[in-house]
Amino acid sequence: MERKLIIAANWKMNKGPAETVEFIEAFLPGAEELSEKCDIVIAPPYVSIPAAAALLADSVVALSSQNVSDQDAGAFTGEVSTGMLNEVGARYVILGHSERRAIYGESDQFINAKVQKVLAAGIRPIFCIGETLEERESGKLEEVLRTQVSGGLADLTVEHMTDVVVAYEPVWAIGTGVTATPDQAQEAHAFVRTLIEEQFGKEVAATTRIQYGGSVKSGNSAELMAQRDIDGALVGGASLEAVSFRDLIANAVA
Ligand code: PEP
Repeated sequence: MERKLIIAANWKMNKGPAETVEFIEAFLPGAEELSEKCDIVIAPPYVSIPAAAALLADSVVALSSQNVSDQDAGAFTGEVSTGMLNEVGARYVILGHSERRAIYGESDQFINAKVQKVLAAGIRPIFCIGETLEERESGKLEEVLRTQVSGGLADLTVEHMTDVVVAYEPVWAIGTGVTATPDQAQEAHAFVRTLIEEQFGKEVAATTRIQYGGSVKSGNSAELMAQRDIDGALVGGASLEAVSFRDLIANAVA
């Protein structure tokens, strides 16, 4: 089953509107050719999304936000709704990132509410899961992934799943420079695919794209993407510089 690669830049709390414009102007040349083999997504901070949208409107690069509210409107200080994201042209939302889970205490149930809200708004969730080093070393890898997948994707339909991208990101590999080996990553991805199969059936499992995240860079993107069950990457640090991010994608599709 052919699954098109999808590589997404998660800028985290980096790049205001001015730096966003600078990045996109440097990144866009050549992006069209790369997009034949790979969907490209950029997730700037909220305040930079309108500046990015103005430049990306007629481009092959899709816009994402890094979070969203589980509510529609009202007294929720500091929050941004799916309606607002639609208005500014965001087509994806990163949900369940390990930083949201660990620093802001987001639970599987809360993440699930957001996943459902995003899907109802016609936006695509990039749903992140992954274990800590302690969980992996104490033999809990499968249990953790099972809980995150069943909780985070609870009550979704087979139709919903066509819009869901899953990102497997071992927490110990995020921002550390330590990457899972291609074998380690492939093994975890294959397991995540079996979890999706248990929950949604064979066809959904065969078509759902599962990104790898955790210190992906231009030097390792090719061997990671060559793995059978790895369908793209969610990239933090190495997505902050336009030319090297483009190289990372070029190597991944080569
Ligand atoms: C991330 O934050 O999703 C991530 C994978 O970060 P990095 O590429 O910096 O490890």
